[in-house]
Amino acid sequence: MMTSPSFQPTPSIPFELRQSPIQGLGAFATRRIRKGARIIEYIGERITQAEADVRYDDESMERHHTFLFNLDDDTVLDAGTVHNESRYINHSCEPNCQSLIDKGHIHIYALRTIEPGEELTYDYAYERTPEMDDDAEGLYVCRCGTPSCRGTILAPEKKAPARRKKAASKAKRSAKAPSKSKAASKSKSSPKPASKSKAASKSKSQATSRSKSAGRGRRAAS
Ligand SMILES: [Zn+2]
Repeated sequence: MMTSPSFQPTPSIPFELRQSPIQGLGAFATRRIRKGARIIEYIGERITQAEADVRYDDESMERHHTFLFNLDDDTVLDAGTVHNESRYINHSCEPNCQSLIDKGHIHIYALRTIEPGEELTYDYAYERTPEMDDDAEGLYVCRCGTPSCRGTILAPEKKAPARRKKAASKAKRSAKAPSKSKAASKSKSSPKPASKSKAASKSKSQATSRSKSAGRGRRAAS
């Protein structure tokens, strides 16, 4: 798959792809990556939300597995077709990277200093849609195995503004504070553009008559 015409290799990435204990191929640092470093752009085919729904029917999958990443309310990047190495960076509930959207591009950044050999991960924070029930948790199961694993790659349910504070302070915290904050919601929803589009797309799918799975199964920037 990595030799297909839709694979666009990135020159001089600081990681290699190999078998991961989390899932399939993973991305492992080949050199020290400093905190805050931009590691790679998440590349994908730019398609509409509607097209993404047509391409992938979550209900028919036993376990959700796509490479959709929400860019904004209208656009999704599908790395199931056009992609680069970023597609292989696995999800973790205790990630060492985060994804941020800037001017129509998604990049993966180091949340802390990462040593050679460490697997790179970020929180996929899959969007929750209004119709999701408990079954959805099973469809989007997480096996990252970290102490604070929430069991699903769905974003934590929105509760209080308190989480934002937590997330922000977590992001600021230094590399050497591993699993202190147990169930703390991780880098999750630092107040980035994505949370806005999350809310927006939610109301949109409520307002229109899209199919039941509409809007499901997208990664969202943290
Ligand atoms: Zn997990």
